[in-house]
Amino acid sequence: MAPRTDNGATDTVGTIQNLENPLQSAASTRTQPITARHAMTHTQHEPDCYFCEVSAGRADPLIFENRSFVGVFDTHPVNPGHALIIPRRHVVSLFELDEMEQSDYFHAIHGVRQVVETTDLTDLYRNMLIRGDLRERPKDHIETVLNLPFLGNQPDAYTVGNNDGRAAGRSIDHLHVILLPRYIGDVLDPRGGIRNVIPDRAKYHKSALGHSTTMGLSAKQVS
Ligand SMILES: [Zn+2]
Repeated sequence: MAPRTDNGATDTVGTIQNLENPLQSAASTRTQPITARHAMTHTQHEPDCYFCEVSAGRADPLIFENRSFVGVFDTHPVNPGHALIIPRRHVVSLFELDEMEQSDYFHAIHGVRQVVETTDLTDLYRNMLIRGDLRERPKDHIETVLNLPFLGNQPDAYTVGNNDGRAAGRSIDHLHVILLPRYIGDVLDPRGGIRNVIPDRAKYHKSALGHSTTMGLSAKQVS
């Protein structure tokens, strides 16, 4: 069992040691105690909500826990180490987090990043391919990531994002913040980053010929 700090946060190092066997890690984290306050205010679950199941430790192996959040590796990774930070409480929007959760959010982001950077991701995805609970699910994302040339490298950057509402692309209405490690060369031209979710208006400038370009950024036009 991973030890907890005074504020109820899991000692991440203890969690990392459990990652040698993700399924074993899940089993051990499920049994961790929660504080009385947590039980009263932070475990309201919605029936049929997948991320309520995850945050309760009944789905994907937990790679991180603190008082308000859990972390898991995404089983449809788009890059090595793609992880999710999920509130224990059924919170729909980032803007609905209470003060304690807001504080614990940044603690969770840091903690999950530490797990990402200290996990053997090749091993993780090889194990994910044979996970019994994923038997019926498509594995193409996992197989693709296993063949990426930068698998095994430390991340060069991160995209941290949350699709906060259906119009933003969300499919499950329980907050889940994406921690996406980025690697040099993972896309042809990364400039603009998440601006590119609206591709037609993502480019910073149009050239005299009318072609979009990202050259010549001004201070007001950074991502
Ligand atoms: Zn939920």
